[in-house]
Amino acid sequence: MKIIDNVFLVPGVVANPYILVDADGLTVIDTGLPRSERKILAYVASLGKSAQDVKRIIITHADLDHVGGLSALHKVTGARTYASKIEAEAIAAGKPSRQIKSSGFSIQRLVFTLLSPFMKAAPFQVDEILADGQILPVLGGLRVVDTSGHTPGHISLFAPAFEILFCGDSLVTDENGIHGSRSNLTWDDAKAKEAVRKQAGFGARVVCSGHGPVVMDATSKFPL
Ligand SMILES: [Zn+2]
Repeated sequence: MKIIDNVFLVPGVVANPYILVDADGLTVIDTGLPRSERKILAYVASLGKSAQDVKRIIITHADLDHVGGLSALHKVTGARTYASKIEAEAIAAGKPSRQIKSSGFSIQRLVFTLLSPFMKAAPFQVDEILADGQILPVLGGLRVVDTSGHTPGHISLFAPAFEILFCGDSLVTDENGIHGSRSNLTWDDAKAKEAVRKQAGFGARVVCSGHGPVVMDATSKFPL
């Protein structure tokens, strides 16, 4: 699904993977649950590109629904892989970067508690550690933003040239707009709120979340 000219959402994957198109190749943000690489590669093919055109894979955080397809997608594409230090360590250990709280209910929590024993992400060593403020040569300059809170090393990615924000699970979207990280999945509630405030200040016109629809005209839809 086309979001803007150079950005696509791969449909039918939990959590949402995004494909960014630049002259030098493709960048994938997040890789869905295990086996999602098939849908991602099929979508790449539908754009008239090959697996080898995928040059970068960026992971927002180490939860299973974001890293599940990482190892297999890397194997097929040979892409360079990126994550923050804390999340990279968790990915290398093949587990999430924080404990899930035992209270509350959500579909994501069900995924964790019921499926995790059967659907572990293969331990994987990412190539490059990303730090807050770093700018990647993607979409005219893709800025790495520390949005810890949902997880200890969560990052978002913001492209000022296109006013588009990829927020992973630091923000959740639905038909009513933009919300903060769901509390029962949040590592640190205060930091999660801070991450919302920080991102509200970017003036992003388009918000691409891990869960929920892409929000257009997003500027006025951030929670106060
Ligand atoms: Zn998620």
